Amino acid sequence: MINRDGYTISLWQQHISAFPLSSTRHEQVYDIIIVGGGITGVTTALLLQEAGFKCLLLEAANLGYGTTGGTTAHLNTLLDVSYETIEKNFGLPAARSIAKASANAIAFIEKMTQEYSIDCGFNTADAYQYAQNKEQDEALDREATAATNAGLDVSRVATLPLPISCISAIQVKGQAKFSPLPYLYELAKAFENIGGVILENTRVTKIEHKGKVEITAGEQTFTGRKLVLATHIPPGINLLHLRCIPYRSYALAARLAQNDYPQDLYYDMEEPFHYIRSQEVDGQQYLIVGGEDHKTGHHENTTLCFRQLEAWVHKHFKVEEITQRWSSQFYEPVDGLPYIGQLPGEEEDVYVATGFSGNGMIYGTIAALLLRDMLLGVPNELEMILDPNRLKPIAGFSNFISHNADVAMQFVGKLIPAASLHLLADLAPGEGRVITYESEKMAVYKDETGELHSVSPVCTHLKCDVNWNSGERSWDCPCHGARYSPDGQVLNCPATMALQALHVAATVK
Ligand SMILES: Cc1cc2nc3c(=O)[nH]c(=O)nc-3n(C[C@H](O)[C@H](O)[C@H](O)COP(=O)(O)OP(=O)(O)OC[C@H]3O[C@@H](n4cnc5c(N)ncnc54)[C@H](O)[C@@H]3O)c2cc1C
Repeated sequence: MINRDGYTISLWQQHISAFPLSSTRHEQVYDIIIVGGGITGVTTALLLQEAGFKCLLLEAANLGYGTTGGTTAHLNTLLDVSYETIEKNFGLPAARSIAKASANAIAFIEKMTQEYSIDCGFNTADAYQYAQNKEQDEALDREATAATNAGLDVSRVATLPLPISCISAIQVKGQAKFSPLPYLYELAKAFENIGGVILENTRVTKIEHKGKVEITAGEQTFTGRKLVLATHIPPGINLLHLRCIPYRSYALAARLAQNDYPQDLYYDMEEPFHYIRSQEVDGQQYLIVGGEDHKTGHHENTTLCFRQLEAWVHKHFKVEEITQRWSSQFYEPVDGLPYIGQLPGEEEDVYVATGFSGNGMIYGTIAALLLRDMLLGVPNELEMILDPNRLKPIAGFSNFISHNADVAMQFVGKLIPAASLHLLADLAPGEGRVITYESEKMAVYKDETGELHSVSPVCTHLKCDVNWNSGERSWDCPCHGARYSPDGQVLNCPATMALQALHVAATVK
């Protein structure tokens, strides 16, 4: 089992041990510094080291700590953002480029599993998207046309090989699935084997430009000619925080009573939608279902989200045991496509890859391939399409406004309930709450021993107030998705500093 950015643990994180680092010595100066030990950072680091650059990979916690450890790892060209939307916002040639790049990303992952003999259960599969009412059927019709126009091999099917009824469905071939962490680890090993250096437990807190990029991580400093921020969302304050909306998504793994695990990938069209597949891990098959997405920090009782997902699974499958429940974070780009390239508002030597929606296995891989081309000066048709400095298309603009209405509410509304101190006594062990005591707001957490921990609820990123996330036992910022542990340590970007510690003298049992 490895550490992760929350209280729960995913199927993948449960079934793997800490990465056996072999980078024992490091230097201060590199060609390229990559920050973030998820699929994006590790794949990018390997490709750049292979291309002849001297690379350093810095990870705040451990490899697989972030969403790559909390993913469900569908490898699909049928993306979360519909091809209809991509075509509307970016045009048909762009939709075709994205479809082609997604298929290339799956082929690249397969090639890596063969080249490095990675035992990660990589298997090809078909994807099915299905409609359960008339409105969904119409949307599915449009998506089938748009996806076909983009170049996907789409066919209509009458029924699903799944115990769920639908009125129509499409099947798309050429998809795949795998276990993400064995894949991540083997790529990281390959990176080290050719001279790449990985440092875990090294959180980057400052980036400066002094001719080169100077990185501060705790007491250490490193210098690089270029910097790649593969931190899922860039740390610090950046325009991209207004263009990427942080969401939580919930997942569970289950053993089924009969051996009837669905072997393909399935997506319903509910709002939010459910995503289904299975995977063999350590000789045992698991059904893996995800859904119940909501904006980060907008639900306090996230335990309820797990219960709803569980109820949905029990309705459709004969479950013997639910073995893992976990949630994780993703970032929805306002116009539908990720931002990969030069970081807006920064010097030209800083690169970023973010806004992957629920397709970061694909987009993280696309990012690595695109960033390699950009750093080698090789033309790539995706460079313009995914440019983080692109103008917002009109269709994205309305999403942008409505998302920022939430942000504005957080800035202006300050709807913190004026609870009094006696509420502290109501806290159960493992619970947290934001309270007001003598005009001071405190985010208070009671640990399993009954001891109270109190921090300022003011997010150190852009000063919104954090909310409690009961399922993951974390303080989540509803504005830009920064997350903190119960005692205020940073779990997720964009924050780089812990919540301010406050002192509560009492122990309430
Ligand atoms: C529940 C769920 C299911 C999903 N399912 C799928 C799926 O089926 N298919 C798919 O393609 N995608 C899926 N996604 C999306 C996909 O998992 C992510 O987009 C992808 O894992 C992101 O990878 P990453 O490497 O960019 O980020 P991460 O894996 O989050 O890695 C970023 C790393 O950066 C580190 N870091 C952050 N800040 C710093 C710092 N200041 N200094 C040093 N290190 C830092 C973090 O510790 C972290 O390890 C899913 C997402 C969710 C939430």
